[in-house]
Amino acid sequence: MKQIRDKTFVPFIESESLQNRIKELAQEVNKDYAGKNPLLIGVLNGSFMFVADLFKSIDIECEVTFIRVSSYQSTESTGKVKQVLGLKEDIKDRHIIIVEDIVDTGMTMQEILGQLASNQPASIKIMTMLFKPEALKVPLKLDYVGFEIPNKFVLGYGLDYDGYGRNTDTIYVLKES
Ligand code: 5GP
Ligand code: MG
Ligand code: MG
Repeated sequence: MKQIRDKTFVPFIESESLQNRIKELAQEVNKDYAGKNPLLIGVLNGSFMFVADLFKSIDIECEVTFIRVSSYQSTESTGKVKQVLGLKEDIKDRHIIIVEDIVDTGMTMQEILGQLASNQPASIKIMTMLFKPEALKVPLKLDYVGFEIPNKFVLGYGLDYDGYGRNTDTIYVLKES
């Protein structure tokens, strides 16, 4: 059990399964992208541990960089607008793999995809460590998924609750009360 602020969490995905799955994902990248010099684009903050471990097991020529997504309230009725920040690399004609910690409604990923696609990369694929199929609200093709999980709040291994709880090597799930 783990207490973060006012909430209690229980172990959900142990480090060993996580690391084994990450090695499998890296093998797929090694196979699918040999000779293509892909650029991994990690989405901060949540993906930083996942990207680090994944990247260590990729043994083809591969670059890595990070973006973050700001969300702010727009004045229009569309509500939240998200903006991709921090991409310094020229991605035109590059093979891009966007790497996320978790896809929930899919809205964040849809926004990132749209903004990156407008820069004419050679290809874009999506990798996410965790995916909640029941929560998905937009059409999204996920190319590499670590684990499909139920629609529950998880934390650890980069994922936070209110900024805290990222610093574990196990993924935890909110305890049912
Ligand atoms: P989406 O736009 O797909 O609904 O949400 C994406 C973002 O919401 C993720 O990148 C993550 O920051 C946050 N998120 C969604 N579900 C969870 C969860 O179960 N735990 C944590 N810690 N963050 C989540
Ligand atoms: Mg994220
Ligand atoms: Mg968060």
